[in-house]
Amino acid sequence: SMQYPEWIWHNGAIKHWAEATTHVMSHALHYGSSVFEGIRTYQTPNGPVIFRLTDHNTRLFASAKIYDMAMPYTVEQVNQACRDVIHANNNTTDYLRPVAYRGLGGFGLSADTPTDLAVATWKMGQYLGASVLEQGIDACVSSWQRFAPNTLPAGAKAGGNYLSGQLVAREARRLGFGEGIALASTGLLSEGAGENLFLVFEGALHTTPVSAALLNGITRNTIITLARDAGVEVVERDLPREYLYLCDELFMCGTAAEITPIRSVDGRQVGTGKPGPVTRRVQELFFGLFEGKTPDKRGWLEAL
Ligand code: PMP
Repeated sequence: SMQYPEWIWHNGAIKHWAEATTHVMSHALHYGSSVFEGIRTYQTPNGPVIFRLTDHNTRLFASAKIYDMAMPYTVEQVNQACRDVIHANNNTTDYLRPVAYRGLGGFGLSADTPTDLAVATWKMGQYLGASVLEQGIDACVSSWQRFAPNTLPAGAKAGGNYLSGQLVAREARRLGFGEGIALASTGLLSEGAGENLFLVFEGALHTTPVSAALLNGITRNTIITLARDAGVEVVERDLPREYLYLCDELFMCGTAAEITPIRSVDGRQVGTGKPGPVTRRVQELFFGLFEGKTPDKRGWLEAL
């Protein structure tokens, strides 16, 4: 069951959990007019860090810009709110959730309601369940498509966009799968309900392009960068559905999912059905950042 934090940052102050509430007449509750981030903290040999904090909050502001939502703070102020809420909860949580939303001030779709901002935190652990990082999950292709690029902007991490992800994830769960994968309106592969996709062919990583109506994930970018540093070829390309069945290895990635191998899709075994060598290598490179084994060349491990 959900473990709520004791303290939450809300509109400039740290509040007790019970005080960090918003009104039922808030614009965002009715129309999905919020933008948010999901950010992990890690314990490293050199102390606790927030992974790519500034990149996440920069994307928060980009999402707000896309939806023309005024942000009454700077990125650095939201960074500080994130640090403050972790400290307030004595560093007992591992996941941060900044959320900016249209609050009270009108019900017109174009209403200029003030933007409220909260930073919540909780203990995420393994998002897709225990031991999935080692064993992988069984996935399915969803009957729900991703929204077309001229309908909703997939590049924004916005509340309303996640109605799509809920349909994909809930259908997958109802059918007994660990996660669902959506096709874009082009019919080509897009992404998981809340994760980007990587396929492995002959030792090279292939990932779907942002034109396939997906969120430009920070974990995706981390993997592309670390893999290229390590001399692994990475290709961004359009791929049809059947390549999910034919690739040597397949995994999902995201802040919550981290690097989750996929052992089957639609009942077809992927590769050997076990996490393959490239997936393992990517996991090593990624988790190595937090074990002090992969050098942090780009200042991604931000002090808590
Ligand atoms: N796609 C979607 C739809 C997501 O919700 C997420 C999680 N934020 C991702 C991809 C992965 O993004 P990131 O690596 O930045 O968490």
